[in-house]
Amino acid sequence: MAHTRILLIYTGGTIGMIEDPVTKSLKPFDFDHLIDNVPKLRMLNYEIEHLSLNPPIDSSDMLPENWRQICSAIDENYDRYDGFVVLHGTDTMAYTASALSFMLENLTKPVIITGSQLPIGEVRTDGEENLITAIQIAAERDSKGEPMIQEVAILFENYLWRGNRSTKMSADNFNAFRSNNYPPLAHIGLGIHYYTDSLYRPDRSRPLTVHYGLDSDVMYISLFPGISERILNHLLNTPGIKGVVMKTYGAGNTPTAPWFTKALSDAVARGLIILNVTQCINGSVHKRYVSADQLEAIGVISGGDLTSEAAITKMMHLFAMNLTHDEIKRRLGKSLCGEMSPPGAIPSSL
Ligand code: ASP
Repeated sequence: MAHTRILLIYTGGTIGMIEDPVTKSLKPFDFDHLIDNVPKLRMLNYEIEHLSLNPPIDSSDMLPENWRQICSAIDENYDRYDGFVVLHGTDTMAYTASALSFMLENLTKPVIITGSQLPIGEVRTDGEENLITAIQIAAERDSKGEPMIQEVAILFENYLWRGNRSTKMSADNFNAFRSNNYPPLAHIGLGIHYYTDSLYRPDRSRPLTVHYGLDSDVMYISLFPGISERILNHLLNTPGIKGVVMKTYGAGNTPTAPWFTKALSDAVARGLIILNVTQCINGSVHKRYVSADQLEAIGVISGGDLTSEAAITKMMHLFAMNLTHDEIKRRLGKSLCGEMSPPGAIPSSL
């Protein structure tokens, strides 16, 4: 039987970093160093090949251009490999996972993103386990012989999470990621247990379509008690801005002061698209209080239980697609690839 073929795409991050002997800070190192430090990789019965961003980067330097490079590596090699593992820094991993999920439409193969909190060469590293488990998951088949995972997912320590539902939760813990509004796709203990009901299943008859366009004319506005009319209006009038992800309180609530409502309705009337997501780490925007009625009347879109990472990358993706204003709004309010729950059906996390 032909070997399972896995393509590793190394982008950088702590997993492949090494301590600078002079400054003692961590800096990205080349991929061969990383492979040399995981001799167990040779024990896996898969054909593993690798590509690397040149140079590898700390993920705080991640740019849409790098997302295009990752997608192009997957696009060009799609038929030659059974699965893809992306090694990535943890800091912006959830943004990359979200962006890739929108860019890789009709993905039917696994794209497993992982990294680590400690570099792979360190004695207590979590990188080795994460790398090996990510490769095993990328190679796994279901009972029909199809890839077990057919979506972009984040593997970290004990869990596999849907990529566009994930958030970095800890700067210290080995279990650094979580999807707060969606159950895990798999639990990693002695074995790998897949929660098959949670797995995304695309329409396998449709070909992979890669959307390389991303529009960065978007931003976040996070509300706080005391936000001023002057500053809010200044932000909403930022030259060239097309979309705002507004991080609101609780179930999507905002101040009810007339100046606030007017600032938003003026912005929407000028053509700005405003997407409402909650500042809470768990739960959804839904109609419960007076302010929700006001926002709906103004034309602010409810982001349901979207993470802020998925919300901003979804906007970047949709603004680059040459869609009408109304179509962008419609797509923002519905799930494209499992990133948001239907209204009233919010699955719980762990
Ligand atoms: N700053 C690093 C990065 O995101 C952190 C990490 O990899 O954990 O690239």
